[in-house]
Amino acid sequence: MKNNSSINNDYKENFSINESLSRYSWFNLGGPAEILFKPDNINQISSFLKNNKEKLNILGAGSNTLIRDKGVKGVTLKLSPKFSYIEWLEKDVIKVGAATLDKKLSEFGVKNSIQGFEFLSCIPGSIGGGIKMNCGCYGENISDNLLSVEVIDMEGNIKHINKNQIRFSYRNCDLPEEFLILSVKFKAKKGNSKTIQNKKIDLLDRKKKSQPQRVKTCGSTFKNSEKDKAWELIKKSNCEKLSVGDAIISDKHCNFFINNGNAKTHQIEELILKVRETVYQKTGIKLDLEIKIIGEKW
Ligand SMILES: Cc1cc2nc3c(=O)[nH]c(=O)nc-3n(C[C@H](O)[C@H](O)[C@H](O)COP(=O)(O)OP(=O)(O)OC[C@H]3O[C@@H](n4cnc5c(N)ncnc54)[C@H](O)[C@@H]3O)c2cc1C
Repeated sequence: MKNNSSINNDYKENFSINESLSRYSWFNLGGPAEILFKPDNINQISSFLKNNKEKLNILGAGSNTLIRDKGVKGVTLKLSPKFSYIEWLEKDVIKVGAATLDKKLSEFGVKNSIQGFEFLSCIPGSIGGGIKMNCGCYGENISDNLLSVEVIDMEGNIKHINKNQIRFSYRNCDLPEEFLILSVKFKAKKGNSKTIQNKKIDLLDRKKKSQPQRVKTCGSTFKNSEKDKAWELIKKSNCEKLSVGDAIISDKHCNFFINNGNAKTHQIEELILKVRETVYQKTGIKLDLEIKIIGEKW
């Protein structure tokens, strides 16, 4: 084990060595992190970054990240629950910690009659991961009510970036990979509490009807393109029944790949390659991955 020097003795309990990352991914897969750092506050992050020379892998709630079997070299950083909070700054502005789960913000919206966060009840990620992915569904995206993000760069400098300085696109934004999102400011638009509550229930219901529940998955594997929905291309190419060991495709939504019990990450990756190749052969379209893959190649 190299690089133990980047572990700071003042907050040693926030580090672990060789801890399995499988419980941090919704696929429930993945080998160990060489170093896992779960900071409690910004001071720990900035003092750590000043000494760290290793590549940093940032993990949110792991609902969009497939972690390779051999694990992740260097440092994997996951903000501790101390970064999960929602606070009022002004009567129409809220600040949300990056580790806050999307559904918490949605619940906060219902409780405080704030509209525009109902769809977040359908997304199992964190606010940091949501901004990075520009998550969304049913025509709404997390960037819609965004005002600014607070990030820390790899030298430990804190920056506040306004929405108009970030380019958001479908399931993406151009914030540099080396920026760790710490918190996010959103506009808090008041609405009718019953309407907000009903919308949230309605969206959750639509999700339940169209997507598999309680399975080990990271949601949509491939991005939709402007012209084509990924699931339609997969269906049209007769890939729905493809599998590799316990890596299977959901029969409810064929863009959802599932660890059906004992799959390994390399089998999910093989299934991804198989589907991508078949769709390309049949339609001439190259599917773009929506999920992120981290770790050492098998
Ligand atoms: C059942 C299911 C349903 C889903 N439905 C949807 C849906 O309807 N719409 C949708 O858009 N997505 C959906 N997803 C995918 C996923 O929930 C979203 O992409 C979510 O926003 C990912 O957030 P996360 O915190 O889990 O990110 P992770 O998977 O942990 O990370 C994703 C990316 O964000 C980066 N990241 C995470 N936190 C930070 C941070 N603090 N600072 C900087 N970078 C960070 C990571 O480095 C990585 O590149 C679904 C997933 C599942 C499992």
